[in-house]
This record gives sequence, structure tokens and C-alpha cells, in this order.
Amino acid sequence: MEEIATGSIVTTADETNPAAAAPQCARAPVGLLAELTHRCPLQCPYCSNPLELTRVAQELTAAQWQDVMRQAGDLGVLQLHLSGGEPCVRQDLEQILDAAVTAGLYTNLITSGVTLTRERLEGLAKRGLDHVQLSIQDVDPANAERISGYKGGAAKKHEVVKWIKELGLPLTLNAVVHRHNIASLPAMIDYAVEMGAGRLEVAHTQYYAWALKNRAALIPTREQFLDTVRYVEEARERLKGILVFDFVVHDHYAVRPKPCMGGWGKSLVTITPSGNVLPCHAAETITWLKHDNIKERELGDIWLNGAAFNAYRGTSWMKEPCRSCDRREIDYGGCRCQALAMTGDPAATDPTCDKSPHHAAFKGLALKEAYEPSPAFLYRRMGAGVAAD
Ligand code: SF4
Ligand code: SF4
Repeated sequence: MEEIATGSIVTTADETNPAAAAPQCARAPVGLLAELTHRCPLQCPYCSNPLELTRVAQELTAAQWQDVMRQAGDLGVLQLHLSGGEPCVRQDLEQILDAAVTAGLYTNLITSGVTLTRERLEGLAKRGLDHVQLSIQDVDPANAERISGYKGGAAKKHEVVKWIKELGLPLTLNAVVHRHNIASLPAMIDYAVEMGAGRLEVAHTQYYAWALKNRAALIPTREQFLDTVRYVEEARERLKGILVFDFVVHDHYAVRPKPCMGGWGKSLVTITPSGNVLPCHAAETITWLKHDNIKERELGDIWLNGAAFNAYRGTSWMKEPCRSCDRREIDYGGCRCQALAMTGDPAATDPTCDKSPHHAAFKGLALKEAYEPSPAFLYRRMGAGVAAD
């Protein structure tokens, strides 16, 4: 997702501590990630959905999502990312899209493509869908299907890519890279060019949820990581004006963190299939935060005043070394969920940063696991996460 400057700056109340200095945020988020469902026919071991996947009976209805779209439009949200799971498994996707188009949102469908028909895609385009982001696991069909746990997926995705271009929809391809497909990155770049994608997102795995369970199977060696940096830098130069790259580096081999979601509660909001409104899609891992639900509170009120949004908004919550660091308003101390996972404290410095006392151990994990044989994947399946160790 891209960060786009937006909106006026307003002062908000901190309902957890009204006496505290009020943090600042934009009047509205730039982007809304709508996770319409956790259902998905694929089983990617790097999936960022939670281990306990939401069941269909708990999903927001089409009418509730339509109300979300109305609220988002009224608030001034610009971009809507229709995601999941696989959003196309919802037969009411068209009704939700209609409400988003009416609300004036720029609509991006994030899909694996495997359940789409040409007729349905054409219908979505006619209703006003603005953009499609399609995931690929590899250009080698057998390996792609092994990674996703879905037979026939690679051929179907190839068909869908052709339909997207025939229908004139802008296309981003998304490739999560890890030790089981990293050698194919040059071929994936060639494929993106050949198929007319405007953008290629090359994302090293972010280790939350299923990806964290599969870290030892996914983590690349330092040499493999450096190869991806070289490939992307070379291709970015060579393909200027043809293909735009988004490159997400591997945290374990970095020395400075990325600004989590462009800053916690700064520009993006996520709504889960059951309606929880989150500052980041992994925020429910911070289990003691109170996450408001869209069925009980308006989106604008949650954005400005929700306890979870204000918990790590701005910089006043920071501890040292972030508190006195001159990068604190650049990276906002990195990722709260990764800080929690590695240190037990979501207010700690992201261990990606070499100023964190946990950085050496964080890097050491990669240097140990990446050079050992890969364990088998724990595939993302309903119920599998509960039983996993
Ligand atoms: S990462 Fe894979 S399993 Fe998870 S939602 Fe996307 S396509 Fe489905
Ligand atoms: S100390 Fe904190 S603010 Fe400074 S670079 Fe590291 S993570 Fe960023």
C-alpha cells in the first residue's frame, strides 16, 4: 500500500489518558483495507491472516460493508483495498463495490484470481473497479502450486492476468519472496513486463501470524537477500517508464525499520471480516488493546478517538532510544507488533533497528534459521493454527 499525504491535521482526545498531551493525526485515513473474509482457496504459508481465522457466520454482511463504504466516503478516505482472505469468494462483492464507487473511493481489488471468471471480472470493471492487484507465488507452475497448496492455480492466474489487461484495468503483480522462490525473482520481473503490469511489488516476508509460524521455512540467507536488492535495483533502472517497483526489504537484514503502516494511526485503517477496526492488520496480536468494532461505533470516531489508535500514535508513547532519536518522526520506531513478538513490549524499539538491545538476537535468528534445511510448511488452513506448536 502506498502512503499519500492527505487531509488537515487535527488534535484528538486520548480516551485512555485525557490528561496526556493529545496526539495528532490526519482528519481521515488515506486508505482503508477492507478484509471482507478470511476464506481463501489458497493456503500460503506466509499468509498474514491471523492463526484463528474468522468463520463465515461472523463476517460483516453486505449491508454492513456498504455502510462502512458510506462512512469512509463521508470521512474523506481516498483509497479502498478490497482484500481478505480472498475477497472474490464473497458473492456479494458486487454490492460492496457499488457502495464504494458511489462513495467516491478509488477501488483496488487484491486477489489471488483463482475463483474469478472473465464474465465476473468484466462485470466488476463495468461497475467501476479501478485497479487489480494479483498475487503470484512463482513463474514456475509446479513450485507456485506447492507454495500456495492449490493445484491449477498458476495456469488460472495467467489467464486472469490476460483478462485484466484485455479489460484495460491497471495491474499490480505482488510477489512475496522467500527462500522457496527467491531464485525466480529475475523471471518474475520478466513476467511482469511481458504481461504489461504497471507495478511489481517485491515483498520480503513480514513475519506475523502464519508467516511467523513458518519463519524457519521461509527466511532467506543474507546472500539471497542481497541478490534481491541487486536484482531490483538493476531492473528498476533498466525498466524506468515501463515497470514501477515497490520493494519491501527483509527486516532481519536491515539496520533501520520501516514506518509501520506509514506510522501507527497516521494514514491507514484496517477492518477485519468481523468488523474490528485496526491501526494495522496485525494489531490484534497486542491482545490487551481495546479494538472497537464498526457495528458499535462510527469509523470517524474510532479513527480519531479509539483507544487502540491513540495507544501508539505520534511519538509521546516512545521509550528510549526512540524517544530522543532524530528518526522518530520518520520511522515512528518501526513496527509495534514486531516489537511485541520479539521483546514482549509493543512500546519497545522495533528489533530491526540496530539501536535496539534486541537487534543482535533478531538478526541472529535469521543467521541461524536461514542456513539450516527448511522445515516443511505449515499451510494456512482453518483450525490448523490452533493445533500448531
Ligand atoms: S496470502 Fe495466500 S492464503 Fe493468505 S489470503 Fe492471500 S492468497 Fe489466501
Ligand atoms: S531508535 Fe527508534 S526512532 Fe531511532 S532509528 Fe531506531 S527505531 Fe527509528
